[in-house]
Amino acid sequence: MIVQAAVGLSMLGGAVHGAFHRNSFLFGSVLGHLPTRERKVALTFDDGPNPEATPRILDTLREYGVHATFFVLGRHAERWPAIVQRVAGEGHQIGNHGYFHRKLHFKSPFYVKRDLGLGKRAIERAAGRTPRFFRAPHGFRNPWVSAIAESLGERTIGWTLGVWDSDRPGVQAIVDRTVEGARPGSIILLHDGDGYNADGDRTQTAEALPGIIEGLVERGYEFVTLPTR
Ligand SMILES: [Zn+2]
Repeated sequence: MIVQAAVGLSMLGGAVHGAFHRNSFLFGSVLGHLPTRERKVALTFDDGPNPEATPRILDTLREYGVHATFFVLGRHAERWPAIVQRVAGEGHQIGNHGYFHRKLHFKSPFYVKRDLGLGKRAIERAAGRTPRFFRAPHGFRNPWVSAIAESLGERTIGWTLGVWDSDRPGVQAIVDRTVEGARPGSIILLHDGDGYNADGDRTQTAEALPGIIEGLVERGYEFVTLPTR
């Protein structure tokens, strides 16, 4: 009885960990770190496109010759398809971030399939390109989220370093947290959009980007994109 209860509890603990930890392998394979020990990092931007921040971020990336990955939200892609087209045209990777930006860990397979399918289609329509990556909103998954992404041909991606840029802590705080927090192989999570407000303000992140790139280059880092496999 006690043993069963303990096993039950630890399984529950495992499930909770799997849902709430974005890089947990419990709910299927997820890439939370680049497969390298060299001073390489990947910049990733979630929740866009955003009419203010995304073009500025793209300008900066072009200026510094850096490629990044954009986890585009389907309903924002439908609103600003030209920006998504620009992301693709300038050689960046595009990942699916779903359509509605609801936390997926308590959602049914039917819901998840629909959300990811709509996100994928919105990207295809806007960019003429099929996304090969998926990132769950807030990283929340359950046993079927990654499997459904996989069935769509999308590799599930987590992240190594988040700097809470979406709380808008100030440009310098975003720069410092990113530059000081990065390690060899870090997948860095930033936000070019707001998952809950299509017009949300992400200009701090856009303004922080030159300082982030310069700070990391100064520390000997090189920018890479995500491995497809
Ligand atoms: Zn998001």
